[in-house]
Amino acid sequence: MAGLCAAARARELGLDVVVHEKGDRAGGSMLLSSCVVFRHRTLDGFREDCPDGDPALQRIVVEELDDALAWLESLGAPVLARETGNPRTVGWRFDPDGLSEALVRAAGEVRLGSSFPAGSSPLVLATGGFAGRLARERRLGLRANPWSEGDGLDEGLRRGGSETAGMDEFYGRAMPASPARWGESDFVRASQLYGRFAHAEDEAGDPIWDGDVAWHENDLVQALARRPGGVAWYRVPAAQLDQRVRERTVADMVAEAERLGGEVERDDGGVRVKVQAAVTHTIGGLRIDEEARVVGADGLWAAGADAGGIFTGGYASGLAAALVFGRRAAESVDRITRR
Ligand SMILES: Cc1cc2nc3c(=O)[nH]c(=O)nc-3n(C[C@H](O)[C@H](O)[C@H](O)COP(=O)(O)OP(=O)(O)OC[C@H]3O[C@@H](n4cnc5c(N)ncnc54)[C@H](O)[C@@H]3O)c2cc1C
Repeated sequence: MAGLCAAARARELGLDVVVHEKGDRAGGSMLLSSCVVFRHRTLDGFREDCPDGDPALQRIVVEELDDALAWLESLGAPVLARETGNPRTVGWRFDPDGLSEALVRAAGEVRLGSSFPAGSSPLVLATGGFAGRLARERRLGLRANPWSEGDGLDEGLRRGGSETAGMDEFYGRAMPASPARWGESDFVRASQLYGRFAHAEDEAGDPIWDGDVAWHENDLVQALARRPGGVAWYRVPAAQLDQRVRERTVADMVAEAERLGGEVERDDGGVRVKVQAAVTHTIGGLRIDEEARVVGADGLWAAGADAGGIFTGGYASGLAAALVFGRRAAESVDRITRR
């Protein structure tokens, strides 16, 4: 998302630009996402949800997202809804295929199967963070594109950049645990997003979480991730199975886990579902300034999940940050290279 946004904005400004895409398709995790590009209504709301993030970067997202959404629509990206259904946030939902096509059109040359040229300048790093590496190291599930391995982070550090706080934090979801099998097309529908109605417990039935769960449930997912292999159980009392989370009931989500071969135990009291924390994107990354320049590294910018320090301590829209800082990176490159 961030790389395509940066390239599209750079071309608009008259710069020559090439997008290097390591994967066999453009769009990254954005293409697999629910594609709700949102911001908190207020900076205070953002700070409440992500208390350890950089307030200067958060302010930019809050102030610039609305114009950036209109820009995406002006490029031809199809808008499916102009609200998020969450009173804390505002934003639009796009059709991911249509958004990807519109951005690729606007970005110009996209070289598939091509890693970015290390050492080059000016270079905007937008490789989607290091979800793959983090999931492998911590033996968690991966709910993201398969190519985001931290290449941008490594390049930034090699060239003098530094890491933000929260390098062990990620945005993710509880997914049905093995032996359930799920792939890209199940990322959204198989998520077990009812931790707030469940008791999270270990194999022996001992609780692994105490207290309220945040609306995004990312706090609970971090607790799951601290278990061996990120695995635990959600026990849901029968009376909670009709509860709705967006358009689905808890029972629908449990049925999806069962359909995929997950472990689901039922008795008169309710159900117990084996879940595993799965990484969608990393939250820590390269430290950037307000122009998306990698602090300490000449000729280098970073946006999207390669740039850390925006959501630390919580959860917000990765697509929104990728959009806003992707555009800012292009504008900054334009200013600096024309000096
Ligand atoms: C199932 C799911 C649902 C989601 N729902 C939402 C949602 O509703 N709202 C929201 O805000 N966010 C959502 N997200 C998160 C969102 O998709 C990400 O925050 C966003 O895509 C991050 O943008 P990015 O540009 O950093 O990474 P990406 O969009 O993943 O793009 C990174 C690109 O870099 C490429 N790459 C990796 N390494 C290299 C290299 N060395 N050289 C060249 N290219 C490389 C990758 O192949 C990829 O195409 C969701 C994600 C998933 C998976």
